Amino acid sequence: MDREALRKLRLFLFDLDGTLYLGERLFPFTRSLLARLRESGRDYRFLTNNSSRSAADYAARLTKMGVPAVPEDFITSAEATMEYLREALPGRNFYVCGTASLKAEFARAGISVTEDPDAAEGIVMGYDTELTYRKLTDLSRLLCQRPDLPYIATHPDLVCPTEFGSVPDCGSVCAMLETVSGRRPLVIGKPEARMPRLAMARCGVAPEQCGVVGDRLYTDIKCGKNAGARSILVLSGETTPEMLAKSPVQPDLVLSDAGEILSALEDETS
Ligand SMILES: [Mg+2]
Repeated sequence: MDREALRKLRLFLFDLDGTLYLGERLFPFTRSLLARLRESGRDYRFLTNNSSRSAADYAARLTKMGVPAVPEDFITSAEATMEYLREALPGRNFYVCGTASLKAEFARAGISVTEDPDAAEGIVMGYDTELTYRKLTDLSRLLCQRPDLPYIATHPDLVCPTEFGSVPDCGSVCAMLETVSGRRPLVIGKPEARMPRLAMARCGVAPEQCGVVGDRLYTDIKCGKNAGARSILVLSGETTPEMLAKSPVQPDLVLSDAGEILSALEDETS
């Protein structure tokens, strides 16, 4: 894939941290890139595995960083999970291990959430920054005593980056519960194809016209491949050239950062 092929893409699905900003610092090209995409008749969405914040929370955060955004610009793993639950397990009552924000989002989407483990007809694991030992006990009991219960995780990430290093994310809590129960959840977020497929369906764009852009090989790039889209790695975040050289997952295109997409699109008007 080259710059010419890049120009043929109609929909760009961006990862956030490491791709459009780093921690609290917005990359200098982000605002112009997003504006240019829409001016040129293309579209974009943001894909995020983090299910501790809603699309509305994310839109407010991005707007505050200087990128005007609305909730519809985001596809979160929570949203993709809700879509899965509606399709595959309609009308059930779910015990949700997640933040109050996640549970409220489920309720707004018409998915029944229970705090009572005895009333649970399914288990959903999110990134629960409000996790307690009480919840871990409830989950252990459900997973050990009721092996028939559907068990779903919004995303597989083991750690979430912070200013000082990392904290345990959804995947680490699932690993802890696997030690207890032997059970592993069905995973919805990146690298699974559900989030990009949802975005492509909403935008009416075919996989070959869609680019998934991100800084992680085993989530973003693998996700693009799983969805049949073009995968574009940026070296502005987690992945180093050495990591790329050793990786069994290889992107369709490698850029130093997403600002290179902007340069490729600027070329087309000159
Ligand atoms: Mg990232």
